[in-house]
Amino acid sequence: MALIFYGSTTCSLCGCVLKENENILAIPAAIANKADPLYKFNDQAFHLECLKKQPEYKELELMLSLLNKHKSSKICFVCNLPITKPDDYIGLGLLTSDNSNPMFKYNFLEFHKQHFYEWEERKVLAEYLKIQKESHQWVGDSLDFILG
Ligand SMILES: [Zn+2]
Ligand SMILES: [Zn+2]
Repeated sequence: MALIFYGSTTCSLCGCVLKENENILAIPAAIANKADPLYKFNDQAFHLECLKKQPEYKELELMLSLLNKHKSSKICFVCNLPITKPDDYIGLGLLTSDNSNPMFKYNFLEFHKQHFYEWEERKVLAEYLKIQKESHQWVGDSLDFILG
């Protein structure tokens, strides 16, 4: 989560210092794809009013609601049991904000490490990722472990 220090952190859109009595939205560092239109908001803080003026605000809102839902779960997608150890956790984060993208349904999925590697659809997801990397729809190496 982007850290906010009131009185010194600035809004990444208007450049003004964020104050405690303002409506502020902090975007966590959850967007893995540097080519995603939402990536420019990754890991930063904003006035809510400034964000609302952005054309991507709707997608951003959707992503944050998905993220909040998953943040509280930490439930493995394969076995449906809670993931209790950080070492045993794999979270895919936001793969794409485009709901026509085949990777959309894998957004924010969470796994026990072992279950992720046993997961049958991992190969399907790896294939999508490979294709999108080759066509530069996906930029960044944070998910390269999927390809292995
Ligand atoms: Zn602002
Ligand atoms: Zn599991």
